[in-house]
Amino acid sequence: MKKSILIALFTITSIGYAQGRFDNVKIKIEPVSDHIYMLQGAGGNIGISVGEDGVFMIDDQFAPLSDKIITAIKTISDKPVKFLVNTHFHGDHSGGNANFEAAGAMIVAHDNVRKRLESNENTASAGLPVITFSDDATFYMNENDIFITHVHNAHTDGDALVYFVQSNVLHTGDTYFHGRFKFPYIDIKNGGSLAGDIEAAKKGLLIINASTKIIPGHGPIASKADYQKYHDMLVGIHENVSNAMKAGKTEEEIAKMETLTSMYYSDKETEKDFITGEKIRRAAYQSITSEKEMSH
Ligand SMILES: [Zn+2]
Repeated sequence: MKKSILIALFTITSIGYAQGRFDNVKIKIEPVSDHIYMLQGAGGNIGISVGEDGVFMIDDQFAPLSDKIITAIKTISDKPVKFLVNTHFHGDHSGGNANFEAAGAMIVAHDNVRKRLESNENTASAGLPVITFSDDATFYMNENDIFITHVHNAHTDGDALVYFVQSNVLHTGDTYFHGRFKFPYIDIKNGGSLAGDIEAAKKGLLIINASTKIIPGHGPIASKADYQKYHDMLVGIHENVSNAMKAGKTEEEIAKMETLTSMYYSDKETEKDFITGEKIRRAAYQSITSEKEMSH
């Protein structure tokens, strides 16, 4: 009895909190290139392409924001959202799926995004991707070849990069963070790996050129030089932690070894971040351990 009251109270407060959290969110629209805009509210960056063929959308943030996002899109285009691509399954990128599906969008994602959303008991079947791909897919809309390519075991096991060839814009999903998000988030439990995230950045860098505009998973628009710097940091962290492991250091020791990552950001600089210095060192340790198991 007591327990159920507690649970009920907890549920009410968390709903209240969730609504309160999104009430004051404003959707900011930023032009990126011909046809392409970035939308920011709360959660992952949204990319949209508008034009004669309708709206092509990448990621949709949290469900309580869908109405605001739809209103914002209407200020740029009077056409409906035809396709919505999820760069991966995390709720701050796919939370609005059911709402956009109800509004007429076809949801597209990597096979593993559908699997992960399907196995999440909190997700209704509404909003599941109705078109999935295993490697690549290309859309032809709004004077762009829109090239979608899967990157294996990077931030999760279902990430995709989306490249607008003619507009020269890349959306990286959470395989790349920019700005106030410093260290990467490797979601190891859901198939992410540091080595895979390095490969994802390598692939992204191969596709683009010096004048490409990059929409990261979180943070402001970035350049190829910014993306290269991030790639180099991932390589450096992987190498430093690998070397410490070869020298016999345990996870606990590595977690405390600030010098493995302080050439990029000090622990002080990242102490309030979602991914702190300790967190990225532990993630690197765990990721390298499982990479080794995989190669055996
Ligand atoms: Zn994510």
